[in-house]
Amino acid sequence: MDFEAVIGLETHVQLKTRSKMWCGCANEFGASPNTNVCPVCLGLPGVLPVANAEALRLTALTGLLLNGTVSRYAKFDRKNYFYPDVPKNYQVTQFDQPSTVGGFVEFESQGTIERVRITRAHLEEDVGKNFHFERQSGVDFNRAGVPLLEIVSEPDIRSPDMAYDYLNALKQILIYGGVSDCDMEKGMVRCDVNISVRPKGQVQLGAKIEIKNMNSFSGVRRALEHEIPRQIAILKAGGSLSQETRRWDDTLEATENMRSKEDAHDYRYFPEPDLMPFAPDDEWMEDLKARVVELPLARKRRFMSDYQLPASDAETFVNDVPLGRYFESIAKGISNPKAVANWVINNLRAKMSESETTLADVRFPPGAIPELVELVETGKISGKIAQDVFGEMFETGETSGNIVNKKQLSQVSDTSVIEKFCDEVIAANPKSVADFRAGKTVALNFLKGQVMKASRGKANPSLAGKILANKLNS
Ligand SMILES: [Zn+2]
Repeated sequence: MDFEAVIGLETHVQLKTRSKMWCGCANEFGASPNTNVCPVCLGLPGVLPVANAEALRLTALTGLLLNGTVSRYAKFDRKNYFYPDVPKNYQVTQFDQPSTVGGFVEFESQGTIERVRITRAHLEEDVGKNFHFERQSGVDFNRAGVPLLEIVSEPDIRSPDMAYDYLNALKQILIYGGVSDCDMEKGMVRCDVNISVRPKGQVQLGAKIEIKNMNSFSGVRRALEHEIPRQIAILKAGGSLSQETRRWDDTLEATENMRSKEDAHDYRYFPEPDLMPFAPDDEWMEDLKARVVELPLARKRRFMSDYQLPASDAETFVNDVPLGRYFESIAKGISNPKAVANWVINNLRAKMSESETTLADVRFPPGAIPELVELVETGKISGKIAQDVFGEMFETGETSGNIVNKKQLSQVSDTSVIEKFCDEVIAANPKSVADFRAGKTVALNFLKGQVMKASRGKANPSLAGKILANKLNS
């Protein structure tokens, strides 16, 4: 019997706000423990929360970016549980009336376009962080109250690779929208994985097993690569699975049981009495629409169709947003955008990394690269000379046209001049000439190289090759 995996992901993302969700404390990673705290985020008695307006906007914006619906009525609830890193002993979260519902993420996976539906995206607050020392433990509350968005997918994912690609696509969308920096090193994205297996063709879902607190996408993939065969092996051996929560141990490369269904929490949700429900008006919704950006996949498709770029170039510009923006700013209306893209991706990027500079430091004017392309395409300079010209453009900020004129680098296409170079080379290399005439065709390349050298790289290479071959064959 063939089995298939059914996977859904709950992705927690820290929002890119200056301050925390309910107070003015900085939303900042890496500060000394318990320095970004106040009575509100420490959960002291008598305090009142004030919702962070930008966090509400970023949550709704995520809904739009994920093709979902922004609720015109959302409310906050208390999720009650006792844990040292939760100072209030409850977490404020959107429960039954989240800010955004529905939608989907479209992305490329294993060469095809996949679509994973989104159930909801709701706003909540992050918790503090426990530290365990040799003889005692401590809690850092700097992270407590940081706005956290939970994006819940439908169980549409079928493989570890698809899960990995979905997470990367989601991350890229959130970075594009300015919703989150999604810095994994700083724990800005964490993930819970829901996984079950069932015989192929069966509609009913198998027992749901949750793997909690994954903090890397490759970890999610590894955990699934382990967990799917584990579950299938149990079913094939005639065993049964029951709902449970497991944790992934990356060093042991195994999942282990944390708790079963019987130990599931009863969170006793009830509406948060200190916060008004959030009911955005038309004007707020309009302002939000202005913040919608082009999504990465759409951008890639547009770069491929508008500029006839191959997928790899388009992907480079999608991943490096400033570079893509620069390319677009100089490639509009250009007859050969692919050549311009080559200069930007291969040469400009290399020069910038060599000199540890950025696009802001580029000194030549926007039209300089298209002009260089034009000089090569019209045969005015050779590709090799163009490399030198580009180097000088980058150094001095001068345009390619100026450099070519000043240094008299124009390619020589005057046949009488090239013939003179060829005669010199033939006279100076009798052995190679004899080799060529004896049938060693490689000797022609050597002689052609000598002609180019004699002309200091300025001879039109194809013309030089033709003239040389004529002379040798006659
Ligand atoms: Zn605070």
